[in-house]
Amino acid sequence: RRIAVLAERATGETRVAATPETVRKLSALGALVAVEAGAGLSASISDADYRAAGAEVGPVDSVLAGADIVFAVQGPDPALLGSVASGAWVVAILDPFGQRARVDAYAAAGLEVLAMELMPRITRAQSMDVLSSQSNLAGYKAVLAAADAYGRAFPMMMTAAGTVSAARCFVMGVGVAGLQAIATARRLGAQVSATDVRSATKEQIQSLGAKPIFVESVAGIEGEGSGGYAGEMSEEYQRAQAELVSAHIAKQDIVITTALIPGRAAPRLVTDAQVASMKPGSVIFDLAAPQGGNVEGSVPDQVIERHGVKIIGYSNTPAHLPADTSALYARNLFNFVSAFWDKEQGGPVLDAEIGDAVRLTRGGQVVHPRLQRQDS
Ligand code: NAD
Repeated sequence: RRIAVLAERATGETRVAATPETVRKLSALGALVAVEAGAGLSASISDADYRAAGAEVGPVDSVLAGADIVFAVQGPDPALLGSVASGAWVVAILDPFGQRARVDAYAAAGLEVLAMELMPRITRAQSMDVLSSQSNLAGYKAVLAAADAYGRAFPMMMTAAGTVSAARCFVMGVGVAGLQAIATARRLGAQVSATDVRSATKEQIQSLGAKPIFVESVAGIEGEGSGGYAGEMSEEYQRAQAELVSAHIAKQDIVITTALIPGRAAPRLVTDAQVASMKPGSVIFDLAAPQGGNVEGSVPDQVIERHGVKIIGYSNTPAHLPADTSALYARNLFNFVSAFWDKEQGGPVLDAEIGDAVRLTRGGQVVHPRLQRQDS
């Protein structure tokens, strides 16, 4: 099989879908890997590194010629794939609900496209889960960006000139990104508290040495929630949560928000009035900024100053640590194709549980149940 690895074309995208390590591993399976020239440069990987790992490196047309599988980070423009044979796979983060027209174009071209962000949250798919691998590093980067914008230190420091007090950091939404944000803020020496709607996170917060802040008067989501995900909360819960947050947030120096609800806009967790209650010089990093924002007034890729508080959010946080996010993303893709590699077929053959979850198009049709529901 021929696997083509594209250079990313989206503005601000610095990641790449294969590394020399995964090129070697894919070659060991029997695949021939072709990497578009320059694809790894922004992730600190040179064309020579790919060649040394056994990849063919060249311009996009020659890389795509005869490809059976195309690897990318973001969904490639269907027009770029004109020469790719019908039936070939495209493996990427495809944003199918936001980029519906593209999905139709992939189907029309006969491509079988697989959306890695729809990987089911089952134990055997953990090593293929791109949302987790990317969110983890994003949670880390959010804290570093907030610390950098903060005009004070995170740890308590006792110096000859006097004591510097520790920063108070509040993490809202304790999924993969939030857990890493807690751990990172703790490592930097902040006093950390955190909240979520899922009760299972309480213990996780405590085990990282942070203080859980939870709505107790109205039931949240028992345990992990469906598939590990949160849903939209009742109005009563939202009111109780807003009161709790108002009381807590006024005393915080750093707030990191990470709350997402699959398939919907991010929940609004921090209002402008709550921002106004914070001390001047405080910093908020809104990891959900590209999904509409958890914080009123946040704008992706801008530092917004409201009431003396900086509100930061990136449109693509994982792209701010491209070497590591690429390394993990590339391993996710390798783990995916290698888990299903069929020696007789000489290529991957998906099973129903994972195949039906991630496959958007096949045989000229849009086949994903959630997209078909959208059609009707
Ligand atoms: P996510 O990115 O969908 O959301 C981030 C967090 O925001 C979640 O913890 C969610 O509960 C929280 N949230 C949503 N609405 C909120 C609100 N109104 N107020 C406060 N918090 C709110 O979540 P995620 O990081 O993808 O992970 C969710 C869970 O899934 C975690 O427990 C994780 O361990 C689990 N998981 C399991 C697997 C697997 O088994 N393969 C893989 C990945 C994640």
